[in-house]
Amino acid sequence: MLQSKLFTKTRREAPKDELAKNAELLIRAGFIHKEMAGVYSYLPLGWRVIQKIISIVREEMNAIGGQEIELSALQEKGVWEKTGRWDDQVVDNWFKTKLKNETEVGLAYTHEAAMAELMKDHVSSYRDLPSYPYQFQMKFRNELRSKSGLFRGREFLMKDLYSFNKTTEELDLFYEEAIKTYRKIFDRLNIGDSTYLTLASGGAFGTDYSHEFQTLTAAGEDTIYLSKEKKMAINKEVMNEKALKMLKISEKELTEERAVEVGNIYKLGDFYSRPLGLTYTTEEGNEQAVIMGSYGIGISRLMGTIVEVFADDKGIVWPESVAPFKIHLVYLTGNDKVKAYADKLYGDLVGRNIEVLYDDRDLRAGEKFQDSDLMGIPYRIIVSDKTLESGRLEMKERKSGEVKMISEEELLSGKLN
Ligand code: ATP
Ligand code: MG
Repeated sequence: MLQSKLFTKTRREAPKDELAKNAELLIRAGFIHKEMAGVYSYLPLGWRVIQKIISIVREEMNAIGGQEIELSALQEKGVWEKTGRWDDQVVDNWFKTKLKNETEVGLAYTHEAAMAELMKDHVSSYRDLPSYPYQFQMKFRNELRSKSGLFRGREFLMKDLYSFNKTTEELDLFYEEAIKTYRKIFDRLNIGDSTYLTLASGGAFGTDYSHEFQTLTAAGEDTIYLSKEKKMAINKEVMNEKALKMLKISEKELTEERAVEVGNIYKLGDFYSRPLGLTYTTEEGNEQAVIMGSYGIGISRLMGTIVEVFADDKGIVWPESVAPFKIHLVYLTGNDKVKAYADKLYGDLVGRNIEVLYDDRDLRAGEKFQDSDLMGIPYRIIVSDKTLESGRLEMKERKSGEVKMISEEELLSGKLN
């Protein structure tokens, strides 16, 4: 992509009402636009990052038998009433609205009930199970406070997978597989080292506990008790003797940390399937409730998390796995040959399917470097009078700040680290 054609502009100042570092940097670098508190739009660079995160999550969901779907955001009141979750006293963050004929509808904050209802049309026998549908979808939650940028949106992107199993044993096996898969996802997103499986509240679903994946960051809204050594953590909400005993760990081994919940997995059992009548016929001919689980990942929250974890005083630092582009090609105004060479190099990179943003703008070097630092693309390649003379290219790694002279062949091979 040519930077001169990119409609988004970088800016020195973030909006005054933006308090979160993640949103501040993403707005300044032109990745997102703030519509109102807790509501953000994704611009070309930001949407590319979101798509990269989605691709990784999608690959891993497919690898454990997930089948991608897309459910409606508008939800029927009756379905939620059957599970007692339409009531504002029970669920306090509903966005509700009305059809012209006064029928009430809700904007989905999650999809357990809708999913279970839908499956009634497709599951009748043990042969129809297990089943693992999932989606990437905008969720709506009327959050009381939204001061943490992408960490707490009133409209946000979530990946939600739902498991439908014959027995609790089958659910338990899938649940363990999901934990492993989530670890793989966070490793691929480069936050594996700072993300911990955390014992958390079972919420309203009649189970004692759920598991969260918590990433350490001072910007996080959650408090967890962590043993880095044993890779075990307990959310403050459920920190007590019973939880410690369950994990076979003593309080002395744990330190208090700030973290952000990037994923949450639940065993739901028959909490939704029983009231909604989602049953199947066993091999022996008995009718039984389908056993459910739900597995969320905060896709947009992850983008904010990656920014918080890696950013430095100059701006965003993207890991290669989710960077909007791999290379930021920057030419510095010099004689005509420089621009012509940079243009050709850009064409060659594109021809090899190497993702490159080309800063072809006629601006001062300092300004270009400042923008490049702010945007956080992993490798900056500089073409100037000087590099042209030396016959090599200057490459600066965003993360380490390390500068190397490389050949054109090395750059075009795409192997830079
Ligand atoms: P939290 O405790 O942070 O309010 P939650 O437990 O209500 O989150 P879930 O219903 O488990 O969240 O949703 C699955 C995932 O969606 C969460 O693990 C989180 O990563 C993400 N998520 C939840 N609420 C928001 C939000 N308001 N903005 C952005 N992401 C969110
Ligand atoms: Mg949660």
